[in-house]
Order: sequence, then structure tokens, then C-alpha cells
Amino acid sequence: MEKIYDVVILGAGPAGLTAGLYAGRSRLSTLIVEKGKDGGQIAITDEIENYPGQEVEGESGPSLIARMTAQAEKFGVERAGDVIKEVELVGDVKKLIGNKGTYLAKTVIVATGAFPRPIGCENEGKFVGKGISFCATCDASFFEDFEVYVVGGGDAAVEEAMYLTKFARKVTIIHRRDELRAAKSIQEKAFANPKLSFMWDTVVEKVDGDEILTSMVVRNTKTGEKTLIEADEEDGLFGLFGFIGLLPNTKLFEGILDMENGYIKTDENMHTNIPGVYAAGDMRVKSLRQVVTAAADGAIAAMQAEHYLANLG
Ligand code: NAP
Repeated sequence: MEKIYDVVILGAGPAGLTAGLYAGRSRLSTLIVEKGKDGGQIAITDEIENYPGQEVEGESGPSLIARMTAQAEKFGVERAGDVIKEVELVGDVKKLIGNKGTYLAKTVIVATGAFPRPIGCENEGKFVGKGISFCATCDASFFEDFEVYVVGGGDAAVEEAMYLTKFARKVTIIHRRDELRAAKSIQEKAFANPKLSFMWDTVVEKVDGDEILTSMVVRNTKTGEKTLIEADEEDGLFGLFGFIGLLPNTKLFEGILDMENGYIKTDENMHTNIPGVYAAGDMRVKSLRQVVTAAADGAIAAMQAEHYLANLG
């Protein structure tokens, strides 16, 4: 007979790994299912500055997440690498059907996170991985000494643009307004960076090239004026990074869990509309999406799962 876990957690980002840590410490039989690499959004973040107690010089997303993974596993959390295709969440035993197997659980914590929003320009799909990227940590080194453009004006765009200045010859932030959304402390560093410039009130309309990205058309949102930007002849290419927010990873739960604009609705204790099913992290309706809030969600969800299991008897 298949094992019925006390808790199955979907996703190994900060929310899922913290839920695992708390569930494991509570001696609940716990499985974390992750479809890719651990870490979610922070696996592609170069610098973590605002996680409490984070004073390790050069701490990156991957280094922080590696410690979170090790800590959860220390408390006996099991792991599965699988893509869940279908879920049956109602009832005392919940069923998660993946490509490699079916996982049974008395409680489920959804911690599937979010993924980057596409830039939304013409031809985008043709050039992803051929000049367009959504991960500076992964792809910055390809653009050593080239020109790079970054779309967005939030924390992610500005921080990743600064990281890209360590590699690229010049980095230009393209933002649809004339003022950044990023935190003031991040803005101050960006404005002081001599390799970083700004193209205000601008959106990317179209990208082009043969095999790789060599040109794009941008439009001024105030004047409507369009400008063709071409790769320097000697370079033959440029980079375009998109950091314009996130989209929730919740398709699997459509029509099953209550949602608002694709984000899962919970109460302050991470309860969804189904008893024994909790949601933690970026794909939940909430006001602040940070590592610290994801971790807090995970801890709360795991403790609520423990209470629920205790009441099941
Ligand atoms: P965000 O804060 O939602 O910012 C998205 C940016 O993209 C905004 O500047 C927005 O412009 C722009 N944008 C949105 N849709 C666009 C479109 N269709 N075309 C052009 N521009 C568009 O997203 P984020 O920077 O990815 O951050 C996501 C979350 O992670 C946030 O909660 C953020 O605080 C957090 N985060 C925190 C840190 C940190 O604390 N160090 C680092 C990274 C991320 P407008 O400003 O005009 O709306």
C-alpha cells in the first residue's frame, strides 16, 4: 500500500522548505515535491540583503536556499522530483498525481510560488534563450562586454540590472514610467552606478534578429515616438532581460481552490477553502512578497497542518 504522508508540500522555495522544516521538527511524516531546482524565485537572485540576520558577505539566493534545503532534510523531510499533473484535495486522504507517481497525504501545503511575467512584445517567444532572459544570475556571463537592456522598474529589475553591470559594457533600464517602483535604498545605489542608464516612459514593442536578438523597437509612452535599437555592429547582439513582476503558479488548482486574479485566497493562518489544504508563499493573495514573508507563511501552514492532524485523532 502506498504511504500516506502527514504532509505533502508542493514546491521547494522558501515557503515550502520552511513548511518542511517546521513539519519535520514536529515529527510529521513529510514529503516535499519539487518539479525543478530548489529555491523558486530566489534561486535566480544574486543578492539577498533583507532577510533578517543575513549578514554573510556575498550571500546569494542559491547559497541561502542550499542551507534551507539542508536544514529541512536534517529533520527527516523526504524529497521527490516530480511534476504534479492533477490533484484530488477533498476528503481525509488527498491525492497528488505526478508524472512519476501518485502521492497520498492527510494534509497538503501548496507552495508553488510564481514565475516571471513575459515582456509582452512581438516575437518574444522566438528569442527567449537567444538574447532574451529572465534570469541575470543564470545568463549574465553570456553578455560579458556586450550591451544589455533590462525591462522593469521594481526591486527585481533594478537589483538585477546592477548585477548585470558587473558583466555587461553598459546596462540600460527600460521603464514604462518616469519613476522607479524599487525601494529607495535600491534606487540610490542604482543612480550612483556609472554603468547604468535609464530609458524612461518606454516600452518594448517588438524584438528581431536572425538566429539571435539583434534589434528591437521601443515606444515612448508619452509621445508615441518609436525608436529602433540595433546591436552594435562589432557586437552583433545584445541582451534583453525582463523583470516586470510575477505570475502565480496556480493553474493546477483552478476551479478547486478559491482564487483572486489567479492568486490563492487564504485566511491569516494559510487555510484555503478546503480543510487540510494550506497555501504559503508568493502565489497566495498577500501584500508583501519577500523571502521573509514566504518563510513565515510556510511556518504557519505547517503548524496549522499539525493542529489539523491532531484533531483528526
Ligand atoms: P514588481 O514589484 O511587481 O514590479 C514590476 C515592475 O515591472 C514595475 O516597475 C512595473 O511598472 C513594471 N511592469 C509591470 N508590468 C509591466 C508591463 N506589462 N510592461 C512594462 N513594465 C511592466 O515586481 P518585481 O520587481 O519582480 O518584484 C516582485 C516581488 O518580489 C515584489 O514584491 C518585490 O518587492 C519582491 N522583490 C524584492 C526584492 C528585495 O526586497 N530585495 C528583490 C526582488 C524582488 P510600474 O512601476 O509602472 O507598475
